[in-house]
Amino acid sequence: MNELSRSFGVHVIDTGYLRENFAASHMIVENGKAAFVDVGTSNSSKYLVQAVHAAGLKNEDVLYIILTHIHLDHAGGAGQLMELFPNSRLVVHPKGARHIISPEKLIAGAKAVYGEVKFSALYGDIIGVNAERVIEANDGFVLDFEGRELHFIDTPGHARHHCCIWDPKSGGVFTGDTLGLAYPELQRAGKRPFLVCTTSPSAFEPDEMISSIDRIMSLRPSTLYLTHFGPIKVNVESIRVLKNMVLTHKEVGLQAGADHAALSQAIDRLFVEAFSDYLDGHETDVDARALLAGDVEMNTQGVMVWIKRQEES
Ligand SMILES: [Zn+2]
Repeated sequence: MNELSRSFGVHVIDTGYLRENFAASHMIVENGKAAFVDVGTSNSSKYLVQAVHAAGLKNEDVLYIILTHIHLDHAGGAGQLMELFPNSRLVVHPKGARHIISPEKLIAGAKAVYGEVKFSALYGDIIGVNAERVIEANDGFVLDFEGRELHFIDTPGHARHHCCIWDPKSGGVFTGDTLGLAYPELQRAGKRPFLVCTTSPSAFEPDEMISSIDRIMSLRPSTLYLTHFGPIKVNVESIRVLKNMVLTHKEVGLQAGADHAALSQAIDRLFVEAFSDYLDGHETDVDARALLAGDVEMNTQGVMVWIKRQEES
């Protein structure tokens, strides 16, 4: 955890999904109350409850569960937590609300990808949320959390049901997956953050992702709270490289067409070269290729779905 991980009442919690340092939940504490941004899976609930108690708060003090989007590594545990935190309300993009209330489609989609056994191990039980406790956050919605304003920004590109949350008090934005991934193992002390984009299925839209990144940067944030993983200081060069990477995914996708192997190789090469550029000749014993292998596969699948949409439209 870096020095940003306890500033301005923002606590970073490792949800334990897949491995250490992969998926974070952020708990904002204000005036003795708590709000979570993204929550991991049902298997993560115990860590979030521990964090509430470690901050000297009770389950009743949790007022909001905020989701950047409804992919299960961010939102799978929401239903279970709403039962554990009786005074909480759930805040979500209007396009995600009905799937949080009735998660059957989310469950069926994930079971189709992972199979029944792996699905249960990864996600546990996924419970729907009572519609009366759900707040739909349109673009421009402002949540008054104990006097702390949280501004919701519609940010398509990674998913159509994605929003980012601008928190003027910390000067930070909770970015979900819009501003990419920055695994702690890949960061070198004293250097700019190393980011890679995430184009996972099924609604990757490169041009919208670039617009969403520009929109977030126009707020001039100082900190980005990434779900994968934790806070980073904003750096203009990191954002330039990230945007370039999105455009390169689009280009290599258009070149590779429906060839999964060619596209996967191109994305793997792109990540390896970007990390090598970042290291700039410095030695490392970190196996970036192994750390990013899952993202290469997800990005390949997402770009292929995007290509298919282009062909159909
Ligand atoms: Zn996602």
